[in-house]
This record gives sequence, structure tokens and C-alpha cells, in this order.
Amino acid sequence: MEQVNWRTMKGQTVDYFEVQVVCPKCGGSTIHFGEPDTTEHCGLCGAAVRVDLTIRLAAPVADPWRKQAPLDQPHKVFTSAGWEWRVLKAYASPVGERTNQYARWLCAVKSPWTYDDFEWGDTYIRDIPGAVPGQRS
Ligand SMILES: [Zn+2]
Repeated sequence: MEQVNWRTMKGQTVDYFEVQVVCPKCGGSTIHFGEPDTTEHCGLCGAAVRVDLTIRLAAPVADPWRKQAPLDQPHKVFTSAGWEWRVLKAYASPVGERTNQYARWLCAVKSPWTYDDFEWGDTYIRDIPGAVPGQRS
């Protein structure tokens, strides 16, 4: 197991690492956003999995969706049946999202019940009509 400085691996500042995590509950292997000392959820069974630096590191990744966008310049907008989702931030890498059914985005959401206000919160990607996990365009 290799120990590295995750923020400055090979002298480059990166947003995060993709790490492969083996779930202690179901034994499944999923890929997560690799900031250390965080808890992710297993993409297969949902169990909490601790991310630490002893986990095998994959490629460093730069992803503009990791940076939080302002409400008036969201990364992407989805609309359906009077609802609007403004995607402001992704928590996982594209690969991590594709392998985790619990992947979330920070969204500002307007619905027929919020009138003209946006409610901010983490939203499962799978709950947003038309959203494709891992898609960045
Ligand atoms: Zn699991």
C-alpha cells in the first residue's frame, strides 16, 4: 500500500482521487471520490465505507463539477413536469457515479410546491429525470 500526499501527488494539485473501495459488509468493490477521512456509501449495499489513504489509489482527476457553481450558473439544468433541478456540485467522479446507485449531486430544486423559491439539498442522481450518472455535458 502506497502512502501519498493526495493533494499534491506528483507535484500536481488535483481535485481528488478515484479510489477503489472494498465494502466490509458485502465484499463488493466500488469506486469513490478519494478525499481521505470521509465516509462513502457502498454502491451495492449502501453500507458506510471509510475512505483512508491505505486504499489503493487510482488516477488523479480534475472535474469542474467538483467546484460549487452559483445558482445562476449551474453546471446543468434539468426540467420535468413543473420541476427544475439546477446541478451545483458533484461529490463523486464520473466513474464513481456510474458505479454507485447512491451517488448524489448538490442541487437547487424548484417545484410546484416551492413557488418561485429554490430548495437546496443533496439529490440522488437517479431521482432526477433525464440525468445520467457520470455525464458532464
Ligand atoms: Zn456493500
